[in-house]
Amino acid sequence: VKKIAVLTSGGDAPGMNAALRAVVRTANHYNIECFGVREGYNGLIHDDFTKMGPRSVKNIIGAGGTILRSARSLEFKTKEGRQKAYDNCLKHGIDGLVCIGGDGTFTGAKIFNEEFGIKVIGVPGTIDNDIFGTDNTIGYDTALNTAMEAIDKIRDTATSHNRVFFVEVMGRDAGFIALNSGLATGAVDILIPEKKDSIEDLFATFERAEKAGKSSSIVVVAEGEKLGSIYDLAKATKAGFPDYDIRVAILGHIQRGGSPSCADRVLASRLGFGAVTGLMEGKTNVMAGLQSNTLVFTPFEEAIKKHNEINQELMLLSEILAI
Ligand code: ATP
Repeated sequence: VKKIAVLTSGGDAPGMNAALRAVVRTANHYNIECFGVREGYNGLIHDDFTKMGPRSVKNIIGAGGTILRSARSLEFKTKEGRQKAYDNCLKHGIDGLVCIGGDGTFTGAKIFNEEFGIKVIGVPGTIDNDIFGTDNTIGYDTALNTAMEAIDKIRDTATSHNRVFFVEVMGRDAGFIALNSGLATGAVDILIPEKKDSIEDLFATFERAEKAGKSSSIVVVAEGEKLGSIYDLAKATKAGFPDYDIRVAILGHIQRGGSPSCADRVLASRLGFGAVTGLMEGKTNVMAGLQSNTLVFTPFEEAIKKHNEINQELMLLSEILAI
């Protein structure tokens, strides 16, 4: 490859900048020209390319968000949109594309590669950790720590007032943030989309907690858990336990922001490097990931379709240790 382009797409995640920096500087190291594309696939379609060199990415390794900005591009989902994107790549002589994002981003990249043959490599940047082929996605560790710190603060107020707090963390399809932040903060129960929960189970947990002498409790709830909204849960609990002082906290987008953790900066640096060297080795339609501390490439097909399993041992551990 002689000229590559890099973009960030889908939901932003802390560490995307560190990945971008690694892509740009690795390309520079190997004498490959590098263009940054703004606002995800929209930038490809609207010809928003900027030549980038080592100094374009100075002081961004610790910055949250993405300096290239991200977007959800509806136009890229159409053949006409992708044709425009390809015409622009052709115009700039791009022969390799690095797409930093989640599974939607990889789906788009895969289709683009299949239609036009341009080499594409994905870098997993999403806080949800829901992508197969890498132990962790970029942004997950930071989001987890943000959630943990916020829940710690909520616990301070919960214990001062004998309260029950329902805390919602991000994770529409995956419970990794909920399970790990819940375990790390001693949540009495953790509700995730991967596990079939019932209100009876939740009530039984409260009863056990009461018997064990717990005076306050935190229930961590993933956005996508199946029992109903967090407000429904709070209402149902109030009906079952009228004496409880129940509060709801939704952590929301603070989990997406902030300076990336050390683990995320290192991961992003390694995967950004891997994406460029992968392209140099002729790899395409694959995602760079880290498994057991080793750089691996997983076909988009698998990365998109398969899912990381929730660790049952962690699930059990959180139940045993909470009471
Ligand atoms: P996150 O996991 O954080 O939501 P994501 O990469 O999965 O990130 P999406 O919004 O699903 O986020 O996808 C990002 C972009 O990828 C879309 O806005 C669209 O431009 C492109 N894309 C997704 N699916 C397709 C598709 N089937 N065909 C073409 N492009 C697609």
